[in-house]
Amino acid sequence: MRQVIVAGNWKMNTNKAEGEALVSGIKEGLGETSAEVLVFPPFPYLGGIVAAAEGSAIQTGSQDLYIEDNGAYTGEVSTAMLKDVGCTHVLVGHSERRHVLGECNKLINTKTRKGLADGLKVVLCVGELIEERQAWQMEAVLDEQMSWGLAGVTADEMASVVIAYEPVWAIGTGLTATPDQAEEAHKYLRGWLESHYSADVAENTRILYGGSVKPDNAAELIGQPNVDGALVGGASLKADSFLGIIAAAG
Ligand code: PEP
Repeated sequence: MRQVIVAGNWKMNTNKAEGEALVSGIKEGLGETSAEVLVFPPFPYLGGIVAAAEGSAIQTGSQDLYIEDNGAYTGEVSTAMLKDVGCTHVLVGHSERRHVLGECNKLINTKTRKGLADGLKVVLCVGELIEERQAWQMEAVLDEQMSWGLAGVTADEMASVVIAYEPVWAIGTGLTATPDQAEEAHKYLRGWLESHYSADVAENTRILYGGSVKPDNAAELIGQPNVDGALVGGASLKADSFLGIIAAAG
């Protein structure tokens, strides 16, 4: 039985006070939940968010990492720095990093392997553009992103990998994949894991859906057999809506 994950990607939003108030609000409202809860705040606030989340089940991850340990890489942040401030997870391959910041599959693979090698859990994001979907290329795109993203990742390491299916056309647009569309993509991804790893890895790997998830659509999406939770952008920036999604997840 896969434990559901509800993860909030704050992107480049909040300030220190807002972020700490947000995580305190989530902590206060959390109550009993069977879901694993994660937040991905901006780099400068990570330490403060980890401290504010202390004593709760909320785990903190970073939105990116760099592939070297230290040195002349102006502006970059290493895995050791992230772990030093209490991060347990990292997002890799988010569509904004792929399509706005120009990250290629090779770099995404290096980041995935670096995070895993250094003991972080990796949430690897994959998803097609609208023109790729319209050209019936969804599966080909997912195959390419999975093959590249997970190249060199062992079956044992897959215990520390979560996949997030995020159709790019549904991110921040208010357009959500229908539960059937989400399930179709997730089923494909689970089949991919079975054919490239094993039935065991496919059975145990969590696959999250991301793309305009809100409290009122979360239950139906997460209720699909192959959807193991949600990666939430906009609706994770208010404690009430994020808590609503956690409640919908069960
Ligand atoms: C995201 O950025 O990962 C995301 C899913 O955003 P939103 O929920 O705002 O579509």
